[in-house]
Amino acid sequence: MNLAKFPRVHLAHLPTPLEPMPRLSALLDGPEIWIKRDDCTGLSTGGNKTRKLEFLMAEAQAQGADIVLTLGATQSNHARQTAAAAAKLGMDCHILLEDRTGYTHENYRYNGNVLLDVLHGASIEHRGPDQDMHAEMEAVAETMRAQGRRPYTIPGGGSNATGALGYVNCALEMMGQFAESGLEVDHIVHATGSSGTQAGLVTGLCAMNAGIPLLGIGVRAPKETQEGNVFALAQKTAEKLGCPGVVGRADVVANCDYVGPGYGFADQATLEAIDIFARTDAILLDPVYSAKGAAGLIDLIRKGHFKKGERVVFLHTGGAIGLTAYTHEFDVAARV
Ligand SMILES: *Cc1c(COP(=O)(O)O)cnc(C)c1O
Repeated sequence: MNLAKFPRVHLAHLPTPLEPMPRLSALLDGPEIWIKRDDCTGLSTGGNKTRKLEFLMAEAQAQGADIVLTLGATQSNHARQTAAAAAKLGMDCHILLEDRTGYTHENYRYNGNVLLDVLHGASIEHRGPDQDMHAEMEAVAETMRAQGRRPYTIPGGGSNATGALGYVNCALEMMGQFAESGLEVDHIVHATGSSGTQAGLVTGLCAMNAGIPLLGIGVRAPKETQEGNVFALAQKTAEKLGCPGVVGRADVVANCDYVGPGYGFADQATLEAIDIFARTDAILLDPVYSAKGAAGLIDLIRKGHFKKGERVVFLHTGGAIGLTAYTHEFDVAARV
């Protein structure tokens, strides 16, 4: 495995911190909980997509692209980080936003990630739910090519084998931090959506023979679909890295019991996780991804799946800027 052979641009503040969560650990009275702060990657309020974009944007530059196209849900953290990366590298950015929730709240439509998309100078067009967004994006790219532009298309969440290299890199970084601090980690837990994060991590961990189980907490798809998507992308990533077959099907584990009412909708457990993380170790989560991951972590500790004496690392994938789009979930007016 040699990551250095892939073109990469510097976008993220790395390494991100690895910190203990003493107050949360005490509250739950289970395993020792640590947090890997990929919410602190630094680009336009941070998040996990920045690691993927280091490899994706380098490929866009190598191909001579003058505009990057990508897609996501209205409050896409990936779209926001892509818009920021494009601005930083002097490229144009065009985003297709899919209305997956039907929310009409002003904050959902114009605040949070959407505000930042606009500030970074991205152009935006909208699509309704249940469309083939990748086909829509390819059609837009084709029109641009006919007009003499050189578009580079990035799939949803930046999740292809190139983007997943960013999380192979994160696996390397974490293993280095664990060794440095003498931390023996029993589990790594994180929110999984478009699969690139988990696919990259599992590929990196397997290639290093790390022996640390990785658990993705799903935010959208059912377990079988999610695990299938992650495994397929992990296989491609391993091939790209020159270690085909290094990931076994059994290494890919997702728990999709915390999706709640669906993608982009918070339930009681999601909101409780936001509350608990903010009040204990002052960590801000987002209602779409990281809080569902945290809700899974909390519930699995309460059920005894993660036990006293173990050490669990929660990978914080970012997204807290999305809180400003979800003010309708928090009864702020009644509490001030
Ligand atoms: C995109 C995203 C995820 C999920 O990562 P994938 O690579 O899409 O599986 C998790 N958390 C946040 C905050 C995200 O924006």
